[in-house]
Amino acid sequence: MIVYKHIALIGLGLISSSFVHALRRAEYTGRVTGTARSADTRAEAKRLGLCDAIMDTNAETVQGADLIILCTPVGAMGAVMQEIAPHIAPGATITDVGSVKFDVIQAIQPHLPNGTHFIPGHPLAGTEQSGPASGFAELFDNRWSLLTPVEGTDPEALRNLTAFWQALGANVDHMEPAHHDRVLAVTSHVPHLIAYTMVGVADDLKRVTETEVVNYSAAGFRDFTRIAASDPTMWRDVFLSNKEATLEILGRFTEELFALQRAIRKGDGDHLHDYFTRTRAIRRGIIDAGQDTDAPNFGRMPEVTAPKPKAEP
Ligand code: NAP
Repeated sequence: MIVYKHIALIGLGLISSSFVHALRRAEYTGRVTGTARSADTRAEAKRLGLCDAIMDTNAETVQGADLIILCTPVGAMGAVMQEIAPHIAPGATITDVGSVKFDVIQAIQPHLPNGTHFIPGHPLAGTEQSGPASGFAELFDNRWSLLTPVEGTDPEALRNLTAFWQALGANVDHMEPAHHDRVLAVTSHVPHLIAYTMVGVADDLKRVTETEVVNYSAAGFRDFTRIAASDPTMWRDVFLSNKEATLEILGRFTEELFALQRAIRKGDGDHLHDYFTRTRAIRRGIIDAGQDTDAPNFGRMPEVTAPKPKAEP
């Protein structure tokens, strides 16, 4: 059950527009206000009818709200918190959806007004799309939303935020912030960096022409390009904020890559086979946990490409 009467969304992109759709699906009857940095995004959100009111400033947006959700890139969250702090109602809960927790908590905590509840969060749900038109009601369904409560968190405030996420379809778990950042470095941040690199490498290979990369892109590369199309601002901020864990996991990744490189050079088929058998089992575990489909090609329909027009004689 959602106990909040007024939810304020700062930032109107993929995550916050998905909140709006999921709240509608949950038949939420309270008030939802929202804002974004640029007038263009605010105008688009108004045109889409996203909230009860789209405000011009962050301060106006949070006035009277009992739940405030920071949905901006993580690098902006400290300054946003400083700006809205004097306008937050006593007793309000403040949460965020940032992909990094330790740095975000450090940036937000010094500005928190007394008598408010800060419960950091991160939904493990997303796509490579961004902006107010990209959200959808099902985004959080059966996905984990990780809450990383800080010391002294009020148990009732935590229960209410947990119930909010559950009402939107998510499963909720609690985690220590630094541990969250390490887990996410493995499961999300470094994989994104690898995708960015792989697409960058293909782009640099002058032996392979641009049309060859585009026309003959096989499934592996296509999936990398999907990830590498993610929002540049969001991901710049993620790497700058989760620096240590990212660098540590990248070091491990590089070591494993060298081991595979050596196995290929030496013709060590057993090593490669054992390695790929282990990774296949990890994929099986993700499917068994209901976190992805086992349909071929991620459940995508086979592509039907229109026949090329015949050249004029
Ligand atoms: P998005 O679609 O790019 O939207 C970000 C929104 O924040 C935009 O509306 C932007 O406004 C606004 N914004 C930026 N700076 C602001 C400021 N100073 N004041 C007010 N609004 C500001 O981003 P998203 O994908 O929803 O991601 C939002 C957060 O969720 C990020 O922290 C990200 O780490 C986290 N997250 C993302 C995913 C994912 O897959 N996308 C998954 C889980 C968590 P303008 O459009 O005017 O710039």
